Amino acid sequence: MSGPRPVRAPRGTELSTLGWQQEAALRMLQNNLDPEVAEHPDELVVYGGSGKAVRDWNSFDAMIRTLRTLKNDETMLVQSGRPVGVMRTHEWAPRVLIANSNLVGDWANWDEFRRLEELGLTMYGQMTAGSWIYIGTQGILQGTYETFSAVAAKRFNGTLAGTITLTAGLGGMGGAQPLAVTMNDGVAICVDCDPRAIERRIEHRYLDVKADNVAHALELATAARDRREPLSIGLLGNAAEIVPQLLAEGAPIDIVTDQTSAHDPLAYLPLGVDFADMAAYAKEKPAEFTTRSREAMAKHVEAMVGFQDAGAEVFDYGNSIRGEARLAGYERAFAFPGFVPAYIRPLFCEGKGPFRWAALSGEASDIHKTDQALLDLFPENESLHRWIKMAQERVHFQGLPARICWLGQGERDKAGVRFNEMVASGELQAPIVIGRDHLDTGSVASPYRETEAMKDGSDAIADWPLLNAMVNVASGASWVSIHHGGGVGMGRSLHAGQVTVADGTPLAAEKIRRVLTNDPGMGVIRHVDAGYEEAEAVAEAKGVRIPMREG
Ligand code: NAD
Repeated sequence: MSGPRPVRAPRGTELSTLGWQQEAALRMLQNNLDPEVAEHPDELVVYGGSGKAVRDWNSFDAMIRTLRTLKNDETMLVQSGRPVGVMRTHEWAPRVLIANSNLVGDWANWDEFRRLEELGLTMYGQMTAGSWIYIGTQGILQGTYETFSAVAAKRFNGTLAGTITLTAGLGGMGGAQPLAVTMNDGVAICVDCDPRAIERRIEHRYLDVKADNVAHALELATAARDRREPLSIGLLGNAAEIVPQLLAEGAPIDIVTDQTSAHDPLAYLPLGVDFADMAAYAKEKPAEFTTRSREAMAKHVEAMVGFQDAGAEVFDYGNSIRGEARLAGYERAFAFPGFVPAYIRPLFCEGKGPFRWAALSGEASDIHKTDQALLDLFPENESLHRWIKMAQERVHFQGLPARICWLGQGERDKAGVRFNEMVASGELQAPIVIGRDHLDTGSVASPYRETEAMKDGSDAIADWPLLNAMVNVASGASWVSIHHGGGVGMGRSLHAGQVTVADGTPLAAEKIRRVLTNDPGMGVIRHVDAGYEEAEAVAEAKGVRIPMREG
């Protein structure tokens, strides 16, 4: 049995595999486990509670070994983090096909999942953990920045200056919240029960300061708000205690949300439990822990509803906390909306979503050159320009240098082809890996999040992510994944991802053109099918064919 060790992706142009597609998979798998990137690399956990890159260390070794010898007409099959076969395919086929955490409907719950996990038969792949395209907290930063910009536009005249946001969870994803709020000029109080999470975000410059206690946090927050200056404040404690306390004290909070790991009741700290005892307690008495963490979530959500009743802008940030609170018996859990119907769906209708890429050279200058290429390609896109400028100033790269921005139908393929040209001409030092989150326009069925409150009621229809994966396989992606349970937990979502490598070859250009047109195109057709007029307009303008609207 092999065991934990530090993992870091190779950099530079020397191949340790038989081609760049395989090399990219190998480096991105390793990059997901880089201690700079992963939350708990020794346990192979990348982010999002227990989201893993690979099932166990033996599987990791087998994966690396296999990728090193995988031919350009072969495909490695991965079943929940374990390589289970190599099949002869062809050059256009993906080099890796991944299925993670999938369970049959009636069995798709945490208890059964954990039983199977305990037997060593499965793992939780989250969204980009088990599909090897997690790029650290920056990955979510852009989406979080977009969301808070949308909140500002909806309620606060386009800026968060002079407002206080209260949230919790400073983990892999939640850690983007403080910076996203300050990028929108607001003040944020961010509660986390893990002192390490707070320190880590300060170290990475996502969080500005740490408060000594609740009163201190409020004092810092109101002073900065009155000066209309951005400031993010970390506050150590249990959100299920602090959020109700702030409500009871009548704290002047304008916006409330949450990104604790509520999707997994074993990753949310119950009331009356010390953080230091949390992991052992969850392991020893999972059923009791679950009951208590759900009860705590109910208190937390009740206080969030209280803030909404008092006039604050309140939304669920995709962690299923409303669903868990309802399971604990809190009736009004769904009184506030999820962030997708509230702010993001109009972007999804345009095929817009989290386009991201990483430089296999390991050189920050490669990313800066791609940044410039995007600014040149889309001179009219003001929010893209604002984002890239801020990201260059404030984003600390974790692992291989990477960038994210939201691009839509007709934009992603242009960007990808341009990157491929830059690799071919030698302008970039090595190939670029282009992927995205599973949280995207046409790749998820998740009734508490991406597909909450669809116009035609099709929230739980899960054919779309499966079609999305199939079309990406058919279009030439380098690796494609189908996962269950990411974001919102077991039984609540099905989603797919693709990663495509720009290695500078004409073949890569052909694949990129197809994948990066068809992948966001799935989002356009999904939203046309559900009756969104905005999507119909995009389909018409971009030539996305919809058979039921032809003839
Ligand atoms: P994580 O496990 O890395 O971090 C969760 C944090 O919550 C930890 O730092 C933990 O200490 C803290 N926490 C747990 N219980 C707490 C409590 N009672 N009080 C205060 N802090 C507590 O998870 P993550 O990757 O940051 O993801 C957070 C959640 O957001 C997950 O549920 C994830 O599925 C969801 N998510 C949302 C989006 C989105 O787009 N909105 C994207 C990805 C993930």
